[in-house]
Amino acid sequence: MIALRSLKIDTMYRTHTCGELRISEVNKKVTLAGWMQRSRNLGGMTFIDMRDRYGITQLMFNMETNADLCKKAREIGREFVIQVIGKVAERSNKNPQLPTGDIEIIVEELNVLNAAKTPPFTIEDESDGGEDLRMKYRYLDLRRKPVASSIQLRHRMATETRKYLDSQGFIEVETPVLIKSTPEGARDFVVPSRMNPGEFYALPQSPQTFKQILMVAGFDKYFQIVKCFRDEDLRADRQPEFTQIDCEMSFIHQQDILDTFEGLIRHLFKTVKGVDLVKVPVMNYADAMRLYGSDKPDTRFEMTFVELKSLTPSLSKGEGVTDLTSGKGFKVFDDSEMVVGICAKGCANYSRKQLDELTEFVKKPQVGAKGLVYVKFEADGSIKSTVDKFYSADDLKKWMEKFNAAPGDLILILAGEADKTGKALSVLRLEMGERLGFRDKNVFKPLWVTDFPLLEWNEDDKRWYAMHHPFTSPKAEDVHLLETDPGKIRANAYDLVINGVELGGGSVRIHDKGLQKKMFNVLGFSDAEAEMKFSFLMNAFEFGAPPHGGIAFGFDRLCAMFGGSESIRDFIAFPKNNAGRDMMIDSPSPISEEQLKELHLKVTL
Ligand code: ASP
Repeated sequence: MIALRSLKIDTMYRTHTCGELRISEVNKKVTLAGWMQRSRNLGGMTFIDMRDRYGITQLMFNMETNADLCKKAREIGREFVIQVIGKVAERSNKNPQLPTGDIEIIVEELNVLNAAKTPPFTIEDESDGGEDLRMKYRYLDLRRKPVASSIQLRHRMATETRKYLDSQGFIEVETPVLIKSTPEGARDFVVPSRMNPGEFYALPQSPQTFKQILMVAGFDKYFQIVKCFRDEDLRADRQPEFTQIDCEMSFIHQQDILDTFEGLIRHLFKTVKGVDLVKVPVMNYADAMRLYGSDKPDTRFEMTFVELKSLTPSLSKGEGVTDLTSGKGFKVFDDSEMVVGICAKGCANYSRKQLDELTEFVKKPQVGAKGLVYVKFEADGSIKSTVDKFYSADDLKKWMEKFNAAPGDLILILAGEADKTGKALSVLRLEMGERLGFRDKNVFKPLWVTDFPLLEWNEDDKRWYAMHHPFTSPKAEDVHLLETDPGKIRANAYDLVINGVELGGGSVRIHDKGLQKKMFNVLGFSDAEAEMKFSFLMNAFEFGAPPHGGIAFGFDRLCAMFGGSESIRDFIAFPKNNAGRDMMIDSPSPISEEQLKELHLKVTL
């Protein structure tokens, strides 16, 4: 067993970090402290890689010149906390991968500050630990460079967000965590109140109502980097608690918000990634659905939808009903509400195997299509399809014109109910984009999607739900539809999408009590219910509520995108696993009888 040595009070723990020393410091006497990452014994010499948050420095021990010290070094285990005093020397075997790779420390004194058990997985860039194991020992995982640098990136993003918003006159205000339900469409996490038997707080799904109240209070420009809680069924890469950059402004039109927050995103890209983001284009929801079958299209590539048959006129384009497929005896198309496809440029040479693969792909339950029709516009100008039996060369030529296809192109077509088919084709489009290498994670294509529908019909509950949340204002020109045709109302709501990922969303709010009341009614709240849940907001609206609106960005996801990762977990210091558990502290967990009693709760399972 190695004895720990207590340091004299006047001894500095370190003069430099493990990422700092360069060739210019050769011959300097230095003191370093950190963790033992790896050691190599090469007979006469022992090398140790010592790590801290800043990097790795190589330590050198020489058996010939200092046998005792070298022996001591050989007893140091992985992850021991050590301190060394020694001289910086030029390495004979340089490592160009490391910023400190030109030097090493010839160690003169070695102190063990703390011993360590052998870690349950390797703490290197690539680890052999499974996800749950790494989460259980998160403090060890956080020592790994890719994870540590993700957390550092997050810090940088938060700092730059604060800098930008501060420069624009925003102030950060903290809102409470023990509140009551905020309707963002998910379930609440609740906290029982010991002092108020039978009563519960809810954790905020967002600070939505508070930020609106701050506008009534005259704060004018608010933001907060804030934890939100949503008790949703867990899907991959969802966290029950997550962080938003939450913002609200008064006396603004939608355009002011788009401009201000395009500024934020641009600032982040510039300062954190050195990327000059293009001016963010705007597309309305109807166009996004028509062209991409998605309200969060990946616009890194075109491959937009072309309708061969659509029984609903494309309102946004002012086009009438299209039908280039019916009446030729192909029942699948005849019976479909929509026949729609994409053109994969230059893919007519796809093999039978590749096309079978695509057919299997669209039939997967997650995609949900019944089959795939394809047309090959061969390089020699001939056209071959899986529906040759039904359509003449002339028919197919018309299709090719509609697709603007050229020889060498491949057309992929799906048919069925409009909504489902659009969704399935959007998944196929992304798959093709992936296969063709159009989804480069170093290319950033932002997009504002605007004019979302205000309401969504839920067939199970037979009632309307707010698509964004109940405080979103309808477009002035659509308000009259509230009583007659609610589904047609467009909202002053917008999302920021980058590379097909929704990174933020918000709306211009209702600031008039009468309209807010009407909205609650449409959403099926009785006056009494609305009063019980939101009287504080409705009351506030009677005391001079300014016109206002805002937005919130998913901060974890934004960080993940900047870090080039699809998973948000590594950008959260202490994330929960797929089942919503914190593996390190083992939570959720039962509480004692006594606690339950105090909280006036009974558990019946
Ligand atoms: N509260 C909204 C959300 O969490 C954002 C907003 O409307 O500002 O999605």
